[in-house]
Amino acid sequence: MTERTILPFGDPILRKQAKPVTEITPKILKILDDMVETLYAADGRAGLAAPQIGILRQLIVMDCGDGLLELINPEILESHGEQVGFEACLSYPGYSGVVKRAKVVKIRSLNRDGESFILEAEDYLARCIQHEIDHLHGILFVDRIQGDELYHDQTGQKVNLLEVIRLTNQQVVNR
Ligand code: ZN
Repeated sequence: MTERTILPFGDPILRKQAKPVTEITPKILKILDDMVETLYAADGRAGLAAPQIGILRQLIVMDCGDGLLELINPEILESHGEQVGFEACLSYPGYSGVVKRAKVVKIRSLNRDGESFILEAEDYLARCIQHEIDHLHGILFVDRIQGDELYHDQTGQKVNLLEVIRLTNQQVVNR
């Protein structure tokens, strides 16, 4: 397994749509393994989506405290309820913001053996899943911040949200 570099906010790849995996090849499994390695090497880890290591495929790894979960081509089938809470991203270390998410999600995904499964998640796990699936569609958590509640973790200072969003979009335009 190889630890990969996590792309930071501002990289245009983070704004692109990831493609579904059509066949689970050794290459795909290697990417998943590398994503796991990268996830567990990171500080404050929760989840990692393939676009964050520069690969536009629908692959996610996460560990929200209940062990490793790997998702291939995940899709949200149902969502309901509401939760409002702090969220952060490995591509934007040192910052957290308040994001509203569905409280419960039901997803369908493939596992690494290519088997389809259904998972119903709530609260923190549901939040992680929604954050990571967003990454597969080029959406970042700063797009979903409530009000302008984005903070620098160490100083507690509010960050200019519009500037951050401009930074993450501008690169797309310039490409
Ligand atoms: Zn993220």
